[in-house]
Amino acid sequence: MNTRIYLDHAATTPVDSEVLNSMLPYLSSVCGNPDSPHAEGRKAMAAIDDARDSIAELLGARKNEIYFTSGGTESDNWAILGAARAQKIRENKSHILISSIEHHAALYAAETLQKDGFEVEYLPVNDGGRVETSELLARIRRDTALVCIMAANNETGVIQPIEEAVKISHENGALFFTDAVQLAPYARINTKALGVDLLSISSHKFYGPKGAGVLYIKNGVKMEKLVGGGEQERGLRGGTLNVAGIVGMAAAYKTACAQMQENNEKITRLSSLFQEQISSLQGVEINGDGEKLPSVLNLRFIGVENAALLYAMDLKGVAMAAGSACASASVKPSHVLTAMHLSEKQAKESVRISFGKDNTEEEVERAASLLIETVEKLRVAR
Ligand code: PLP
Repeated sequence: MNTRIYLDHAATTPVDSEVLNSMLPYLSSVCGNPDSPHAEGRKAMAAIDDARDSIAELLGARKNEIYFTSGGTESDNWAILGAARAQKIRENKSHILISSIEHHAALYAAETLQKDGFEVEYLPVNDGGRVETSELLARIRRDTALVCIMAANNETGVIQPIEEAVKISHENGALFFTDAVQLAPYARINTKALGVDLLSISSHKFYGPKGAGVLYIKNGVKMEKLVGGGEQERGLRGGTLNVAGIVGMAAAYKTACAQMQENNEKITRLSSLFQEQISSLQGVEINGDGEKLPSVLNLRFIGVENAALLYAMDLKGVAMAAGSACASASVKPSHVLTAMHLSEKQAKESVRISFGKDNTEEEVERAASLLIETVEKLRVAR
């Protein structure tokens, strides 16, 4: 019996069994390369076409605006590097505005641009973890090539003012990219209603397989390639497509959209139950406020180092996180929390708990009681 309690759904989610079943033929009997003109290849390409149709419709996009990638990191890298470089070549614009709380995949791309001679400015956030659009308005310039603000933050769950930011960006002639990797499982995204130029999602955040993602590129937006050497994806992204991964991603996204309201309600109840259960514990602060994802709870346990807490909880069978998964092995304090004006010490007292649709009330109650016990023990041991 698996007695572990998984509370790290912002890092990744398990693959749904129906999603897995939809993928299996493409890992065995349908073996063709989608670029091959023979029957086996055409069958694989038909599956890619169906997946592209389905994802385009759900994102309110045209089919030729959906580009398949290896996941959120590649989509973020490509959006920022590809759009900025194209803007520099065609419009001679080299100023980039990016929020200070982006995922490392986006920050890495901005740092790369800076090394290549772009001027990169970071947008601050308020104490609650939200970018103020007045800060964007104050910094945007005629030579701003691209504005990057994520739709929802992966550490705090705080939802960002994307529609307002898109408006300001376009009024000033800049392109707008949003990383919607964390928002996608919890809110319906309509690229046309949002007005974004570029948007990324990643399959493994909504119960699909790892290693598959999408970059939405609005028709007319000029892009330089990131991955070359093949004519796939309309000549813009080389490499044989991950057929099973893409089929699974499309199935998972369809289910996520269909069950969104039900899942959100359940997850909201679980999160409230958890908060209620730990309410007897003193010295707990919630990081991030305002409109948030239902799934993510970022908590600071005053006087308790997160590394020790996560280690003890893991030993007791509960998986939680500090910061983003890719950075959680590092001892650095979270850049998101320090951008929200927490001290390094306060950031290192903070953990992220993220609930999923398959968690149960019993799990949440047990995790809460183990957490109380552990925090109290660690405080005494200080
Ligand atoms: N962007 C955000 C906001 C994320 O949370 C993540 C994953 O944690 C990524 C990008 C990277 O996505 P992937 O793991 O698919 O590369």
